Amino acid sequence: MYISNLKGRIVEKQYSTYKVQIETGIEKAYLKGTNFQTIQYKSEFPCVGDWVELIECDGTLQIAKVLERRTQISRQSAGNVTEEQVIAANIDYVAIVLGLDGGRNYSDRLLERLTTVAWNSGATPLVILNKADLNSEAEYVKFQAETIAPGVDIIVTSVEDGTGIATLTNYLSKGKVVVFIGPSGVGKSTLTNCLLRKDQQKTNEIRQKDKRGRHTTSVSFMLELESGGYIIDSPGLREVQLWAEDEALDNTFTDISEIAQYCKFTDCRHEGEPGCAVQSELEKGNISPERYDSYLHLKKELAFLNRRKAQKNRQYQKDFSKMVKQVKILKEK
Ligand code: GDP
Ligand code: ZN
Repeated sequence: MYISNLKGRIVEKQYSTYKVQIETGIEKAYLKGTNFQTIQYKSEFPCVGDWVELIECDGTLQIAKVLERRTQISRQSAGNVTEEQVIAANIDYVAIVLGLDGGRNYSDRLLERLTTVAWNSGATPLVILNKADLNSEAEYVKFQAETIAPGVDIIVTSVEDGTGIATLTNYLSKGKVVVFIGPSGVGKSTLTNCLLRKDQQKTNEIRQKDKRGRHTTSVSFMLELESGGYIIDSPGLREVQLWAEDEALDNTFTDISEIAQYCKFTDCRHEGEPGCAVQSELEKGNISPERYDSYLHLKKELAFLNRRKAQKNRQYQKDFSKMVKQVKILKEK
């Protein structure tokens, strides 16, 4: 027997097995094969955070349809294939976690890159500068970061002495969903544990252990906080690479993109064209050379990525029309 019109939210994904939150609790759900066989892009498969339509068939729940996503965080598929892989959907905040303990845990360039990924998701970026207890100049780094990620809220935290945790909690009110991105070792797991209720910490620890297990490395899940907010944790988030559109880059570099409006040519590359406003501000010292270099570098990287995407689409169209022709020939026979 079919019962349709059930709505739910995906709270866990492991390969093609899902757990969904429905009105009556958390249940296992499977993809309805006939609805997903014709999918062209990986990004169309359901992921954690997705709202879905379900049907109940002989006691099992099947995911029939993914409802339109409000926001989504993506990465490039592993390997050489240029394909978008959506890691989490319908998130409210992408929190970029960096560490104040020196070394590679904080750099302006990394902040620019991750801010671009965050803007591209459609969610609101947040910057968390963690391990404040290890840096006596935390407020100075924050001040500096404000010029690198203009218009983004920046929170200085320490899980060690509790600095900023209350401020962070304020963002995670009922129904709000956050993901943490950032290099390993900056304290994303520690922060997650700290934000979770005590009694849930145990579940989380088990899940953390699970994740290290060989066969369970691709489990993604949504963890509920005491406040009613959620954290989405996924191994995919640990290796987010640049996946963004030009617009996201312009959001990260509002200082440069606003100046670029005054360039003589609308397609100015800011590399020595006549009447380039960016070059002129650079010469006046109003844009730092490092930030200018980083802007150009990320722009080129994106252009490369977009060319590869376009190539892939063309190949797909070619394969598709070839297939259509073959089908026609078969029919004619
Ligand atoms: P992740 O890879 O980003 O998830 O980082 P972890 O949560 O595993 O943290 C890496 C290390 O940093 C662990 O040894 C933590 O105990 C430590 N750590 C995390 N947050 C803080 C902090 O605020 N202050 C200090 N001193 N250490 C921290
Ligand atoms: Zn220019």
